[in-house]
Amino acid sequence: MYHKDKSDFYINKQSEQMNKSDMNASVKRISSKVYKYAEDRNKRLVPTLYKILFKKMALKLGFTNEDLEMFDSGLFIEKQQKTLETKRSKDLSKVHGSISNKVKKLLLATVSYSSKIKNSKDLKDLSKDTLGYLSKLNKTKKGLEADENILSNIADMIFKDPLTGLLNRRFMNMILKREFYRLKRYGTELSIIIADIDKFKDVNDTYGHMVGDRVLSSIAELLINSSRTSDTIIRYGGEEIIIICPSTKIECAVLLAEKLRYLLSKLKFKVKSKLFSVTLSFGVAECRADDGEDELPIKALKRMDDALYQSKRNGRNKVSAL
Ligand code: GH3
Ligand code: MG
Ligand code: MG
Repeated sequence: MYHKDKSDFYINKQSEQMNKSDMNASVKRISSKVYKYAEDRNKRLVPTLYKILFKKMALKLGFTNEDLEMFDSGLFIEKQQKTLETKRSKDLSKVHGSISNKVKKLLLATVSYSSKIKNSKDLKDLSKDTLGYLSKLNKTKKGLEADENILSNIADMIFKDPLTGLLNRRFMNMILKREFYRLKRYGTELSIIIADIDKFKDVNDTYGHMVGDRVLSSIAELLINSSRTSDTIIRYGGEEIIIICPSTKIECAVLLAEKLRYLLSKLKFKVKSKLFSVTLSFGVAECRADDGEDELPIKALKRMDDALYQSKRNGRNKVSAL
């Protein structure tokens, strides 16, 4: 875990021994190395993870959002140097001191944390702590390669639901924001589908929660196998699943929902030689450019919810679209 006072102590001791320009070069090198590594590993998920973790860590160390934007574009060091030059006439030593201290802190916290990772329990703790992530990556090339599993475990912990293996709500907002932005900017289509298991409480009450869990996992598996790779399937709540379908008009989303409804109703579960099946109700909506609030298509989410309730009201095991 990150304890500010301890790190500060460490940083102060170490910083005396470090040369400023070496340090700037190292920060730049580490930052681009880690990003490149993450980017190579997984073109979509890992860079996002990296950004989130890196941002948290940097904010802890007192970096501003503006600094982070510059890190993103790889311009941090250059911009800081420019700031120095433009402020030259003011208080050069003060500005210089504060900038190099920031850079020192980031680098040294990174170095100091890499030495604290001893076993997998430490790693688990550190995965909650964003500093651990970056510091673990801040190693030799061999070390970086060995981190591949750890990295994907961390990504799973953050973005996946452990029971079904589906992505979770945190991931949903990221994808929805991105696809909604694409829709507004490029006029692409975007539909969303919600599926809710009918009378699921009865399944738990009749067969027990363990069986209920198995039903949920099997439904998730069928959904994964029956939709496109470009669709994103999210465990939204207890027995509610959302499918985000980019480049899909509402008519096609309704067809997909109908197909899934049919396939799911044919799924058979067996408990002590007794067979049973479940049904799901669906709500479908297409996002429009003016649906937005806080970068998310809130009004479309509402239409999707209303459509689900319509399916429930009309007797369940139905698809409705609004
Ligand atoms: P409706 O058709 O109106 O949706 O009825 P329902 O019984 O499915 O809806 P309700 O909201 O009353 O109950 C949802 C149930 O889903 C209750 C809860 O026990 C169950 N559930 C939610 N998450 C899980 C889970 O992870 N595992 C199991 N086994 N059950 C879950
Ligand atoms: Mg429900
Ligand atoms: Mg339900």
